[in-house]
Amino acid sequence: MNVSLTKTAKTENVEAQKYPKLYLSSPHMGGGEQKYITEAFATNWVAPLGPNVNNFEKDLEKFTGVQHAAALSSGTAAIHLALILMGINQGDYVICQSMTFSASANPILYQKANPVFVDSERDTWNMCPNALEDAVKKLISENKKPKAIIPVHLYGMPAKLDEIISIAQKYEIDILEDAAEALGSSYKGKPCGSFGRFGVLSFNGNKIITTSGGGALISNDGDAIQKARFLSTQARDNAPHYQHSHIGYNYRLSNILAGIGRGQMEVLTERVNARRKNFERYKDFFKSFSGVTLLEEPDNDFYSNRWLTTILINPDETGGISRETLRTEFEKVNIEARPLWKPMHLQPIFEGAEYFGSGVSEDIFNKGLCLPSGSNMTEEEFERIFNKINEVFGK
Ligand SMILES: *Cc1c(COP(=O)(O)O)cnc(C)c1O
Repeated sequence: MNVSLTKTAKTENVEAQKYPKLYLSSPHMGGGEQKYITEAFATNWVAPLGPNVNNFEKDLEKFTGVQHAAALSSGTAAIHLALILMGINQGDYVICQSMTFSASANPILYQKANPVFVDSERDTWNMCPNALEDAVKKLISENKKPKAIIPVHLYGMPAKLDEIISIAQKYEIDILEDAAEALGSSYKGKPCGSFGRFGVLSFNGNKIITTSGGGALISNDGDAIQKARFLSTQARDNAPHYQHSHIGYNYRLSNILAGIGRGQMEVLTERVNARRKNFERYKDFFKSFSGVTLLEEPDNDFYSNRWLTTILINPDETGGISRETLRTEFEKVNIEARPLWKPMHLQPIFEGAEYFGSGVSEDIFNKGLCLPSGSNMTEEEFERIFNKINEVFGK
């Protein structure tokens, strides 16, 4: 680690640290978690298998309406295994939403395949169906037919699934649905994560529910999920000695962490309601602001878990106040806000990857900010946030 860099960062933060830290999204335990952990200790199921893992998987299957779930060590691991199960290898092409967290796309590189990035549309900020079809047609015309499409439900907002699915069906390409941020969201009444051949969930520390770290791969294809469990536990063949005929991974969720997951599933609906209430609160607050808009559900087909409340600030309409103005002012008083996820086609690691679109995601990225959105936020914390925004906007 670069010591001098660390020191500089610390000095700069001294002022801010006089204020209690207000997180973008912090873990929010429900109370039931401890019981399942205690059970695991009492029965000595301290392993990457056991009753909590099995029951957590059942909880996820019940909630999403998907027949099979494999509990894994992370959402990233789930994406990686899904790509392997879809037979994606070196030289293959995979289409991915550009505006996302890097974990949606990194596993494409683990497989030495080629990511092709697709722009967003303005209604949901997710994969633009028109840009998607352009990409598919172009790739097919060059004999590079993509083997999978990865749409993402960013910040919990469902993507335009009807349009995306109809393109995928037309060209016979599988969908790997990244619902890492969208557990509890639904489209036309059907849970996000249940639309693709595979769906991915994440229980990382900042997600709507957490196991501290964890994820799941869900699918109606029981054989595929069985294979995911096999690959995630080092791909051990059925033999008395260690025998391997596949590359294995150590991707299974621990029975202790699955216990946290079971407790969290008991309060998931409550968490969604609390986050949706946060959104309404911000929306009400920003009513009188010109140049500030929130990401709204386009119509009743879209139900967002409102994992994060996100806004666009247009400096042309705010007298020059930008998302960076607000973000840096928040930072000074220890309130965490974050620019929207920077599109993958603009990331150094994906330089040279193909991109289809018209700059929508880049524009949204430049104007967008994620606001503190935890389900455990207090009255006083909202006051701190609102007072600071009023101050910055001279209200
Ligand atoms: C968090 C996240 C992931 C990865 O999940 P982990 O459990 O952190 O590995 C993947 N995609 C998106 C969109 C995410 O937000």
